[in-house]
Amino acid sequence: MRVVTTAQPLDVTPSPLALLLLGREADPKSERGVECPGDLPAPSDPDLVARARAAKATLGDKVFVLGHHYQRDEVIEFADVTGDSFKLARDAAARPDAEYIVFCGVHFMAESADILTGDDQRVILPDLAAGCSMADMATAEQVAECWDVLTEAGVAERTVPVSYMNSSADIKAFTGKHGGTICTSSNAKRALEWAFAQREPSSTKVLFLPDQHLGRNTAVRDLGMSLDDCVVYNPHKPNGGLTTEELRAAKMILWRGHCSVHGRFSLQSVNDVRARIPGVNVLVHPECKHEVVAAADQVGSTEYIIKALEAAPAGSKWAIGTELNLVRRLANRFAPEGKEIVFLDRTVCFCSTMNRIDLPHLVWTLESLVAGKTVNRIEVDEETAHFAKLALERMLALP
Ligand code: SF4
Repeated sequence: MRVVTTAQPLDVTPSPLALLLLGREADPKSERGVECPGDLPAPSDPDLVARARAAKATLGDKVFVLGHHYQRDEVIEFADVTGDSFKLARDAAARPDAEYIVFCGVHFMAESADILTGDDQRVILPDLAAGCSMADMATAEQVAECWDVLTEAGVAERTVPVSYMNSSADIKAFTGKHGGTICTSSNAKRALEWAFAQREPSSTKVLFLPDQHLGRNTAVRDLGMSLDDCVVYNPHKPNGGLTTEELRAAKMILWRGHCSVHGRFSLQSVNDVRARIPGVNVLVHPECKHEVVAAADQVGSTEYIIKALEAAPAGSKWAIGTELNLVRRLANRFAPEGKEIVFLDRTVCFCSTMNRIDLPHLVWTLESLVAGKTVNRIEVDEETAHFAKLALERMLALP
């Protein structure tokens, strides 16, 4: 049957949310950021590489370019150092002579670099729309409301917040103010052990923000807790969707956030790759779901993954569950050594916000600096920076 419809004029007025998702609406509370002002060179410009080289050479030691592991190859080529978010923030802090820190990563990373570097240093994010969907899942207002819920339930004074590095400066500041610490995927176990030692051990709770998977995986795999010791606080439900009894009984209160890249891997991906490549070692990031982590052979941060592949014997086969830019780069790097490395999932999935940083944005940033103009500066206000730094320093002091 043919369905005939009357043509209706299309309503093409974008909603405020659509504008926000497209990165056109300024929202300082959001990791989504805003669109870059200025004219970017065309991505097809064949001179981009030469222009980036020339601008970087002109700036010399005044500029320090940081490249996160998940960045595109075309950007990594111009990075002075590469690493995960925490390593890069420390690398930036170790270069007090660099006037400009160009952070090729996402917004929360540039904020951390600004917190840890000197007041006279300028931290720049080449595209302000390079945010992080996980960091966006916990806003300052939602977390303050959660703390009120915990206070009402009579558990706040026994709760220590532990926030993943992948969170906004506001959340890091909340954590610092309430006696908590920041953690990375490399030191989450030590951070939880430290947190549980801060109060009476039998009654202490941790509020883990914003990645439920890293919190759950660390508690269960590394600290021997049960899944029943963990509850999930949903900021979109009244009282987080939890009863007072559930809050009182829990050891880990996990914020309902996740990484949109690592959250895509499933148990099916693990089973499929094992069937496809006999003898494959499955190595995944702890931001993956618990069932994926439980089915993997090894679990670790991006730095751990790189080291494991460096140490792997020739002829070994690996399926890696982390961001595709990194996996592809590692596969190319280790192929000549006879190591077979594949992406864990059949579906290609980059971190779309990380990929906002491309060569045109980098060239625009560097050439603007050469012209004496600082674009896309990331600055954390003094009070937020003070409390966020407290939480970061607690992490640095972890045993
Ligand atoms: S990979 Fe995940 S956690 Fe990392 S920036 Fe992208 S969305 Fe955020």
